[in-house]
Amino acid sequence: MKTLSHRTLNIAPSLTVAIDTLAKQLLAEGKDIVSLGAGEPDLDTPENVCKAGIQAILDKELRYTAPTGILKLREAVCAKLKRDNNLSYSPEQIIMTSGAKHAVFNSLAVLINPGDEILIPSPYWVTYPELVQWMGGTPVFIKASAKNQFKISPTDLEKAITPKTKAIIFNNPCNPTGAVYSKNELDALTQIITKQDLYCISDEVYEHFVYDGDFTSIASLKGMQERTILINGVSKSHSMTGWRLGYKAAPIEIAKLITKIQSQSIHHPSNIAQYAAIEALNNLDFVHSMKNAFLKRRSYMIHRLRTIPNIQIDTPPGAFYLFASVDKLYGKQSPSGHTISNSSDFCKYLLEEEGLAIVPGLAFGDDSCVRFSYAASEETLQKACDRFEKGVLNLKDK
Ligand code: PMP
Ligand code: GLU
Repeated sequence: MKTLSHRTLNIAPSLTVAIDTLAKQLLAEGKDIVSLGAGEPDLDTPENVCKAGIQAILDKELRYTAPTGILKLREAVCAKLKRDNNLSYSPEQIIMTSGAKHAVFNSLAVLINPGDEILIPSPYWVTYPELVQWMGGTPVFIKASAKNQFKISPTDLEKAITPKTKAIIFNNPCNPTGAVYSKNELDALTQIITKQDLYCISDEVYEHFVYDGDFTSIASLKGMQERTILINGVSKSHSMTGWRLGYKAAPIEIAKLITKIQSQSIHHPSNIAQYAAIEALNNLDFVHSMKNAFLKRRSYMIHRLRTIPNIQIDTPPGAFYLFASVDKLYGKQSPSGHTISNSSDFCKYLLEEEGLAIVPGLAFGDDSCVRFSYAASEETLQKACDRFEKGVLNLKDK
């Protein structure tokens, strides 16, 4: 047989998705698994949103829509961006996508020419580098360390820029670290981004999960809206992961290119999900109460993890993840005689011997850490901490 696409053969599958799929499969087989793997809120989609979806079916809103999505929803996105981010967009600049992940995909497709360098602050969400490579670009990582609260500085940014740099992917609040940039910090970065004439993809899916301080969209800063593709969605804010509904707001010429791609590919996301999303975007009560619940869960997890030897964790100000440093455990041996050499070995050990699914930091570009999602019930978090603690304590020096 002839060789399949090199471009596709050469990228890695999503490890977060792989771990979530495996954990769900083991659970379905009746295994005793606790999963803090995927970043997926445990609460059900709010009832008013479900009812809007059901009503759309009853109203027979079941035909093709425009590739950008239905006008009423794009107007609701414009109203949301004005209300929450003080940003003015027209509905022609808004495109609905099948989840925010698809919005990242489309954005990179319109930006990248072969060889373009795309800056990615690291640790990063697992999907960015693979999609950059898939589009023929080169990911260039800017390392952000725990001692700087996992945030990059203007000097770090400046050093990473070359004549080939095309854009930066900015994820604020950040998955996996929970880092949140203040307005002043963003201001300093945007001076360089505008001076160097870079595009910016701003992934803001965790916008509503900022526990300490305020959220500022980078697109709202001077000179940024005309170079930013702003990405958001309802997966996290309204616990709608399976509805697959995201969106982007972009300068009009970019929006037109994305519309062209969309018209030749998925055409548009589900009409039913679009009607449900109108209801979601117009009402933030649900996300506010979910945020309060997450705040308590974050405190519980931090409190528990800090009592476990060899685990280092600072309180992250945003998102719903904890990115804990576990490298002091490397070199130790599991009860079954396996040496733990890296974050993958450690997570494999926890899954196989303790029935706990968490994600190795390697997936996010930092092998010294592991990621916990605390978007899970208190009972699940308690079990997860018990298993994690036991797993760590059972490791012995060789
Ligand atoms: N961006 C980030 C940073 C994420 O963590 C995720 C994970 N869900 C997404 C985008 C994609 O979200 P979705 O496709 O479910 O809207
Ligand atoms: N974004 C979530 C995560 O990081 C869901 C899985 C995925 O799409 O990566 O776990």
